[in-house]
Amino acid sequence: MDFVIAFILFTFISLIIVTVIRAMLFKPVPEAASVKHELILNEEKIVSDIVEMIRCKTISYRDETLIDTSEFEKFRELLAERYPLIHKNCGLERIGKTGLLYHWKGKSHSNPSVLMAHYDVVPAEEKSWEKPAFEGIIENGEIWGRGTLDTKSTLCGIMEAAEYLIERGFVPNQDIYFSFSGEEEIDGETCADIVTELENRGIRPAMVLDEGGAIVERVFPGVDKPCALIGIAEKGSVNIEFTMQSQGGHSSTPPRHTTAGRLAKAMVEIEKHPFRFQLTKPVREMFNTLGRYSGFALRIIFANLWLFKPVLKIVSKVSGSEMYALMHTTCAITKMDGSRAFNVLPPKASFGVNLRLLGSDNMDNAKERLKRIVKDDNIRLNIVSGMNPSKCSDIDCDEWLKLKSVVKSVWPGVIVSPYLMLGCSDSRHYCRISNKVYRFSPMELSKEQRDMIHGHNERIPITALIKTVEFYANMIYEL
Ligand SMILES: [Zn+2]
Repeated sequence: MDFVIAFILFTFISLIIVTVIRAMLFKPVPEAASVKHELILNEEKIVSDIVEMIRCKTISYRDETLIDTSEFEKFRELLAERYPLIHKNCGLERIGKTGLLYHWKGKSHSNPSVLMAHYDVVPAEEKSWEKPAFEGIIENGEIWGRGTLDTKSTLCGIMEAAEYLIERGFVPNQDIYFSFSGEEEIDGETCADIVTELENRGIRPAMVLDEGGAIVERVFPGVDKPCALIGIAEKGSVNIEFTMQSQGGHSSTPPRHTTAGRLAKAMVEIEKHPFRFQLTKPVREMFNTLGRYSGFALRIIFANLWLFKPVLKIVSKVSGSEMYALMHTTCAITKMDGSRAFNVLPPKASFGVNLRLLGSDNMDNAKERLKRIVKDDNIRLNIVSGMNPSKCSDIDCDEWLKLKSVVKSVWPGVIVSPYLMLGCSDSRHYCRISNKVYRFSPMELSKEQRDMIHGHNERIPITALIKTVEFYANMIYEL
């Protein structure tokens, strides 16, 4: 008996010692920053260019009849007018409905890179804005307008950087493509069409860079320093409709359970059975990077995930929706439809859910799981639209290191970390032809600014925009 107690005690103490030592050794890894190229940028020109971009009302609507294609054409003409050297030196092809593919030939063609952006924007509910959304008003050093953050700023950054470098006779080491779509916000086919075109030509990009994470603060427990979050994968998304039919009839002689009632029961079951906890590679890598900058107590957990997974599971549940979404497939009931009148039994009722798929969950197995949970053969499940989670990009490669070091040179002192993007972007199409697809919007974004994306009063400080140009120029030097 004594022996058993001694053994348990010994194991317990050893475990504590091991976890504490691992936490003590769990320190930031020194990282190299490349030497920043100093540029003499013409700020006035850059600002005037983005202002004109904002003035093109390139608004995407799922209802195609609402789209004003002339505004999109105006935008494309603007690019030709504002960036004459790019248009003279780089081949431009129009692909699909709205695609623009520029090809900047480098000294070598073996390892091409792709810089992506989109020039469509979501609609703006202008009555909630303090200033007009499509005039490019400048006030207190900020440029106002829909698309200033998402993502005419990155498109402008790429174009300004390239025009600047071509003007100085610069030729990139490798081919660079600029891949711009005008229907990202409605999950249009343009980007997929561009990728198919590149695939048919046998092009395998060494690196693809699209919008995504940004330089943000206070997003990770215990870390105060600004972090550059680079998405190395993104969750999938699927819309599923649940419908049930009945005879209908008058509400004065109802069955014990109406279709609406039975669907309500299904909803309760779905909410009672959340999807399982998963620790996927991008999230593990994020913990492995940012966790090293946390306080000691948190480092004990992040350095010993093999032991503290159950703790992490609880942390993910109590620490808010973002943490939870990083480690679970989420399922939000978003739509409901039943009878139009109080006294009419619904002949057909339905509800809809939006799932954000993580890790090994995909559209089909998630639907099957929901079907099992609902346990009602009269309820039909139908996948309306969706996409599976993207592949996870490599980070043990030169391209990742290059990207990291350029970020650190432009924003000294930031921590660069991989992360999982919770939203969907066009870049997922590129996973078909590249293992190095990175999602990073090169700008500093406060919580307030992040809320402006797709929200009201979207605007960008001029200083942030200039840094975006600097980033792309420095990136192009390294490609
Ligand atoms: Zn966007």
